[in-house]
Amino acid sequence: MKGLGQDTRYWEALSRGELALPRCAACGRWRWPAPFRCGDCGGWSFDWQAVDMRGEIYSWTRTWHPFEGTEGFGSPFVTLSVALPEAGGIRLMGVLEGEGEPAIGVPVTGHVASTEVYGRAIPGLRWTVSA
Ligand SMILES: [Zn+2]
Repeated sequence: MKGLGQDTRYWEALSRGELALPRCAACGRWRWPAPFRCGDCGGWSFDWQAVDMRGEIYSWTRTWHPFEGTEGFGSPFVTLSVALPEAGGIRLMGVLEGEGEPAIGVPVTGHVASTEVYGRAIPGLRWTVSA
C-alpha cells in the first residue's frame, strides 16, 4: 500500500483499542518490528492478524526519574518487555499498571491507553499482572 509505513497497521489497530501484528504470508512466521520483507524466507507479503493482549514478562525496568514525555505515567513507573506466545514470542514494550509486582515469567494482560506527548495523544500498550 503506497504511502504507508511498515508499521502503520500496528498504529491503526492500537487507535481502535486492538493489537495487530504482521505474519509472513509465505512462511507463517510472526515478524516484529514490521519488515518490508521477511528475514527468514524473503517473502514480500504479510497478513496482519489480531493478537490477544496476553503474554508474560520477558524483562522489566523501574524508572525513578521523570523525563519529558513520561509525565502521564507518574513516578516511579515500570516498563515491561512482554513476550506474546500467541504471536510466536514477539516482544512488545508497555507500561505496567496496577499493584502487581513485575517479575520475569509473570503473566500479564494488556489494553490500549493514550499518552499525551508534546500535546499529541499517542496510543500505547499498558499491562496489568493477570489474576
Ligand atoms: Zn517468511
